[in-house]
Amino acid sequence: MLKKIDHIGIAVKDLDEIQQTLSDAFDLKPEFSEEVKDQMVNVLGYHVGESTIEYLAPSSNESPIAKFIAKKGSGLHHIAYQVEDLQKTLDHLKQKGFRLIDENPREGADGKNIALIHPKSSNGILIELCEVKKE
Ligand code: ZN
Repeated sequence: MLKKIDHIGIAVKDLDEIQQTLSDAFDLKPEFSEEVKDQMVNVLGYHVGESTIEYLAPSSNESPIAKFIAKKGSGLHHIAYQVEDLQKTLDHLKQKGFRLIDENPREGADGKNIALIHPKSSNGILIELCEVKKE
């Protein structure tokens, strides 16, 4: 059902700072940078070998990321698993009684459809499921 870990999401206050650090330390340049408007979040994505890390910073104080940082500080925000068929996976979880933040896929960063499982249903850790958009 799960294909691979698609990426790890890390909440930070400031994307410029992390960009500077990764550039200074490893000469690492971001692969993509975009705003996910409905989540009020700016995303900076890095590819490291086969892995992807997304740094997430709030673009507004109302952003869920701003609230997360206020409560828990910067750090691990979510783990994203890639699945073959996102809607099918969501239906399966719903049927099993899992609480979902998104019952239907929505648009995420990096050309993917995503959906979140409620942390109350996943031991306090936010899990994102994603699928690569079909043409
Ligand atoms: Zn993500």
